[in-house]
Amino acid sequence: MHSVVCIKQVPDSAQIRVHPVTNTIMRQGVPAIVNPYDLFALEEALRLKDTLGGTVTVVSMGPPMAEAALRKCLSYGADDAILVSDRAFAGSDTLATSYALTATIRRIMANMPVNLIFTGKQTIDGDTAQVGPGIAKRLNYQLLTYVSKIVDVNLEKKEIRVERRAEGGVQLLKTSMPCLITMLEGTNEMRFGDLDDLFRAARYPLKIWDREAAGIDDVEMIGLKGSPTVVNKVFAPKPRSERAEIIETQDDDPKNLAVTLLAKMFTQNPKLEREIAKRAR
Ligand code: FAD
Repeated sequence: MHSVVCIKQVPDSAQIRVHPVTNTIMRQGVPAIVNPYDLFALEEALRLKDTLGGTVTVVSMGPPMAEAALRKCLSYGADDAILVSDRAFAGSDTLATSYALTATIRRIMANMPVNLIFTGKQTIDGDTAQVGPGIAKRLNYQLLTYVSKIVDVNLEKKEIRVERRAEGGVQLLKTSMPCLITMLEGTNEMRFGDLDDLFRAARYPLKIWDREAAGIDDVEMIGLKGSPTVVNKVFAPKPRSERAEIIETQDDDPKNLAVTLLAKMFTQNPKLEREIAKRAR
């Protein structure tokens, strides 16, 4: 069983601010973390390895500092890690990113067949949720999005059954492998890596592939040239002046609740009361 998990290093969004004058994202001093959604994908791949054996390879496309994110994944128990890093990738949008990652995965497959590809549902910085589907499309693989549980994997029949969270319910889906799964958040809890994995992660000879090593010949497909998306403006939404208020009541009769609410509104806005009374006449 060989799973490839795509992980992205992202700035800890809880600490990100938008510059009030230039409207650019202020990244200085913001710690970089593994995209939290990707950890649910990694844990699921590790659980499959626990039950079926095999290998988990983590892949990230990013600047050299993304090595830290990959080492973190190794410390949780991933077996191999590949950082795809090249100046030629700078400015890549989701189309170019999925192109580069697909080429990388094809290279990995040339050495060892891959049964499953995992991505997170989305990232916490780009938030597009496009990269996973982009890779599946390019590889012509079945795409299983919003997967909440892997029910079982039949390696002999090359089949997988998963639960997928859909609006209003859960779907049980079966498909053939290899396929790509985008893993939903909150579906598992990342394990603590053991001491052996921690030491191994620190010393592991992580692979760093440039454009050529990743098998990308056509530079028109990556970086700014391969990126038709243009981000025109980034801005923080204006803070709302009114504050939300929680009204606590023991009374769960909707009529009484409505009366309480109206009374509150009229106290705050007496004009509104007069207006409604006028219309009611
Ligand atoms: P999503 O589609 O939300 O991610 C879904 C899943 O895909 C993730 O959970 C993860 O599992 C996987 N995934 C996503 N990205 C990666 C990755 N890099 N490696 C491995 N797995 C991944 N970003 C920069 O850092 N530098 C730039 O110079 C830059 N220039 C850009 C220029 C343009 C015009 C645009 C539109 C975007 C640019 N970006 C840049 C942002 C970059 O395109 C996105 O960060 C990237 O495509 C991933 O998109 P996303 O964050 O929305 O991921």
